[in-house]
Amino acid sequence: MQSNTGEAVFTHLHTHTEYSLLDGLSRINPMVQKCVDLGMDSIAITDHGAMYGVLDFYSEALEKGIKPIIGCEVYVAPGDRKSKDSTDRTPFHLTLLAKDNAGYKNLIQLVSKAHLEGFYYRPRVDKQLLEEYRNGIVVLSGCLNGEIAKNIQADRMQAAKSVASWFKEVFRDDFYLELQRHPGLTEQDSVNTSLLELNKDLGIPIVATNDFHYVHKEDAPLQDILICIHTNTTVNDKARLKMHGDSFYLKSAEEMTALFEDIPQAISNTQRISEMCDVRINFDQIYLPDYKSLEKINKSIENVISYENILSNQKILFRYGSSQWCIQKTAFRIKVWRLNRNWPVNHPI
Ligand SMILES: [Zn+2]
Ligand SMILES: [Zn+2]
Repeated sequence: MQSNTGEAVFTHLHTHTEYSLLDGLSRINPMVQKCVDLGMDSIAITDHGAMYGVLDFYSEALEKGIKPIIGCEVYVAPGDRKSKDSTDRTPFHLTLLAKDNAGYKNLIQLVSKAHLEGFYYRPRVDKQLLEEYRNGIVVLSGCLNGEIAKNIQADRMQAAKSVASWFKEVFRDDFYLELQRHPGLTEQDSVNTSLLELNKDLGIPIVATNDFHYVHKEDAPLQDILICIHTNTTVNDKARLKMHGDSFYLKSAEEMTALFEDIPQAISNTQRISEMCDVRINFDQIYLPDYKSLEKINKSIENVISYENILSNQKILFRYGSSQWCIQKTAFRIKVWRLNRNWPVNHPI
């Protein structure tokens, strides 16, 4: 895609910063600065299973005149997020982007619940959560570890199709098939061919991403060391997990356009998605949690009741001695509690 001035236009929608712990190397400041230097107008953040970097990223991008797109590459449990048996150890990857503030809140819910309810080796959501918190979220089908790509690699095209159909049904026009081209990942070619088939069969749009983990091409050896630390190996270990080649950096729009020269739609759709995403975070407002004050009050009343029981059993004398202040204060709280319920003073609790 080209701008009015004839320049290539592309937005990175799949990125890993240093907040993809031990997996991403990109520091936010140089990452955003490179976007500025390359003449880009927007970029997303999609760290692995976490949103810790979002606020720094958002502030930095706005300061530098770049539109921040907030997202996360979440892990998706193969079945129920609460299931924790050996088949659940390798969850699928899925790229989520917040379209608006409602989507941003939903993304926070998804990631929080993934940590609180779905954690098993990784923080995991499941389809039930995705459906519940779908509003305002754009979904890209993910890397080679996405559920659709995994099915394609296992020659289960029908299963891939039914997963794609599920996402289309739930997220409608906000679901995209994600195409990636990293030299060395030979499986990507056949996966992309099948994704393009699904694009034709099901009418699901496509989008190109570059799954970058570091800002500059020359950072690749440092990324390699980071993966070694992550997996407790050394660069001398030939059998270790490693990234293939040095293509996982923040590429220019020209490089991405050249890479997907034969599928221009995949490039232009990055701009379409960028334009539809608009999250505004107001730092001047104080955000307090939805505090259930009434419940808390009732809880403290329950404590007072049990306290009165202790008093009546004279255990208070045993535990605290006959402190007049202690007894009077408790008696006063019970009185207030009775008054709030219009109960007479001698009403049994
Ligand atoms: Zn991934
Ligand atoms: Zn990724």
